[in-house]
Amino acid sequence: MKTIILQGQNIPYQITRSDRSKNLRISISRDGNLLAILPYGMDEKFAENFIQKKSDWILKKIKYFQKHKFHILPKSSQKEYKLRKKEAYAIIKEKILYFNSFYKFAIGKITIRRQKTRWGSCSRKGNLNFNFNIIHLPQNLLNYLVVHELCHLKELNHSKKFWELVSLQIPDYKILRKELKSLI
Ligand SMILES: [Zn+2]
Repeated sequence: MKTIILQGQNIPYQITRSDRSKNLRISISRDGNLLAILPYGMDEKFAENFIQKKSDWILKKIKYFQKHKFHILPKSSQKEYKLRKKEAYAIIKEKILYFNSFYKFAIGKITIRRQKTRWGSCSRKGNLNFNFNIIHLPQNLLNYLVVHELCHLKELNHSKKFWELVSLQIPDYKILRKELKSLI
């Protein structure tokens, strides 16, 4: 791992090359490492200049991940899923009943699944599905997630109307949405 100095700070960074990418790409991992993916033939110096130019954005992102580090979720195994699936279901069910005493929507089936890419979903039939990893979520994020999926029972999109509905129970949904997204 190399380091690069950005605005006086030593930032660990790693270079990889990919023949699939035509352009230079940079990303920051949750543990604060900078990754640069270079197309073959691109000069490292060129990449480093580019990184320097983007230093404001990079440092902001690193700071964000450092601040939210304690929220990084443990990955759940198949074994844990088997053992705690009922518990996850009970947690979700209770939250749904709580928030739906306000919204009063008609709810279909509730399911819990092990998923990698999403926290929850709502089908056209009104079935709600949640990621098993919700057992590791802090309460404020769990509340937001449940209200989000509940509101899809009325608005199956992310329209202004939808967010108005969410905000009735979760006024600070914007920041929570960002945080939840960063955890998947
Ligand atoms: Zn949604």
